[in-house]
Amino acid sequence: MIKVEHLSKSFGTLEVIKDISFSVLQGEVLAIIGPSGSGKSTLLRSVTHLETVTGGSVTVSGKVMVRDGIYADAATLRSICLKVGLVFQNFNLFPHFSVLRNITEAQIHVLKRSVFEAEKRSMVLLEKMGLADKAHAYPFELSGGQQQRVSIARALALDPEVLFFDEPTSALDPELTGEILKVIRELAAEKMTMVIVTHEMSFARDVADRVIFMDSGVIIEEGDAESLIRNPRNERTKAFLKRFS
Ligand code: ATP
Ligand code: MG
Repeated sequence: MIKVEHLSKSFGTLEVIKDISFSVLQGEVLAIIGPSGSGKSTLLRSVTHLETVTGGSVTVSGKVMVRDGIYADAATLRSICLKVGLVFQNFNLFPHFSVLRNITEAQIHVLKRSVFEAEKRSMVLLEKMGLADKAHAYPFELSGGQQQRVSIARALALDPEVLFFDEPTSALDPELTGEILKVIRELAAEKMTMVIVTHEMSFARDVADRVIFMDSGVIIEEGDAESLIRNPRNERTKAFLKRFS
């Protein structure tokens, strides 16, 4: 589903991603953990074409996005971006659009669905998120957890083949974190392919099939979620995980 090979990314002289390789299979959930500043968001943004990489290759759904630092043509990039859904830490909803319009907008303008079709799909997703009664509310009228569920519905509305989450719960009060993790768990049970940057170690252990531990722009350790989080082998992974126990 996703193949990353020898990826590197620098900002000026600062090398943030250093020769990273990994892959994600269809239906698999990969968690990325690591200290602040280790390059997790930059890695996610590089794989989803929100950043231009310095070198290496990325393939998504069998389509080459970039090979040895050379990007595919605009049409290919566009078709790849359509397959990828993104959920950010700060929800990034359009503040002046209703919940419903937040979810229909890209369906209508990007996928060229009719308003009727887009609204129908949106309502199915809002129902699934337990937010059908909020369709006509505005983002400021919702809790953080509700806003994050709207942003997940918005990403799902475009029928992505893979969903990327960058710390989806870190802007939320602890009591609202659970509702988001529950939604992600349900998506995992439906075999949605997902890549999740998270600081929630018990969640990563439960939901992820595999975990990557990153530090200073490199993958220090990678393994199945249960054994990496319970029995890390690398000293840096051990030291990092100690902070959460
Ligand atoms: P956190 O857990 O705090 O979110 P992170 O692992 O996501 O951290 P990144 O945001 O990927 O870390 O940042 C990695 C490094 O890249 C940091 O040193 C950061 O300052 C630098 N960086 C990120 N974005 C840019 C940018 N647009 N320009 C310059 N430097 C950047
Ligand atoms: Mg980050």
